[in-house]
Amino acid sequence: MKPALIVHGGAWFLPQRKREAALRGVRLAAEAGWAVLRGGGSAIDAVEAAVRAMEDDPTFDAGRGSYLNLEGEVEMDAILMDGRTLDLGAVAAIRRVRHPVTVARLVMERSPHAFFVGEGATAFAAAMGIPLCDPADLLGRTGDEFPDDERWLPPEWVAAQAARAADTVGAVALDAAGHLAVATSTGGMPHKAPGRVGDSPLVGSGAYADDRLGAASATGWGERLMRVVISKTACDWLGRGLSAQEAAEAAIALLHERVRGYGGLIVIDREGRIGAAHNTPHMARAWVTPGGEIAATIGGG
Ligand code: ASP
Repeated sequence: MKPALIVHGGAWFLPQRKREAALRGVRLAAEAGWAVLRGGGSAIDAVEAAVRAMEDDPTFDAGRGSYLNLEGEVEMDAILMDGRTLDLGAVAAIRRVRHPVTVARLVMERSPHAFFVGEGATAFAAAMGIPLCDPADLLGRTGDEFPDDERWLPPEWVAAQAARAADTVGAVALDAAGHLAVATSTGGMPHKAPGRVGDSPLVGSGAYADDRLGAASATGWGERLMRVVISKTACDWLGRGLSAQEAAEAAIALLHERVRGYGGLIVIDREGRIGAAHNTPHMARAWVTPGGEIAATIGGG
């Protein structure tokens, strides 16, 4: 099986001056994931490596660079899922770790549970030997640094007083053994209430992977994405014969039509075909072309 990989760095409006950093960041993440797959590594290792690269990059709202909540704290959410076994690990509202995706992996592999939240998640990470960092190391952002990011605001979003721009990250991979995996990681929305959790760590919403169907990672307005269980919905359509691109487009169309949601989705099907769709102005993403090159775009205009 020929491996495949696609990563995203969030769906929103990307002002000109942020585009280069976003493109560079998703490219580096794709390179990190591809290095694993090219060396014969597993899809799980590849998605973890790709997401860790973006968690290290303060350009993105995950790990370092996460948005602060209303109390000035960074609380992060992440999930990782193995399409071979449907095993998954997730964390929500975790604090003081540099790589929530790695904690999610430890939840999957080293605990009898699937999902840890809040202080319990941070305590689990510490018990697994993950060093707890100073909150300042996470370089939390208020989201108010670029006021013109607000130029694109869908009316439904304003009406719902939803929080604004976010640059959640995700990765989907197929390895040479034919196994699929997905990971998604976020600092959530800027100005979120303490304890608020969006779609990202919810299985089927922020991510889903099943070797029998395909795999998908979502980004965007979490309160809406979760209502259509967007990643599982797209995977189910793959199972019914839609191509990866058709499934991504159909899921985003459903998101808007059914709940007036906004966001983006990346998808890989069982044959390694890639799809991506968004109804926000941009979604930074990078993928490996059939020729083995890394390509990247922010989409939109
Ligand atoms: N979906 C994320 C959330 O609602 C945000 C994002 O994708 O940027 O927490």
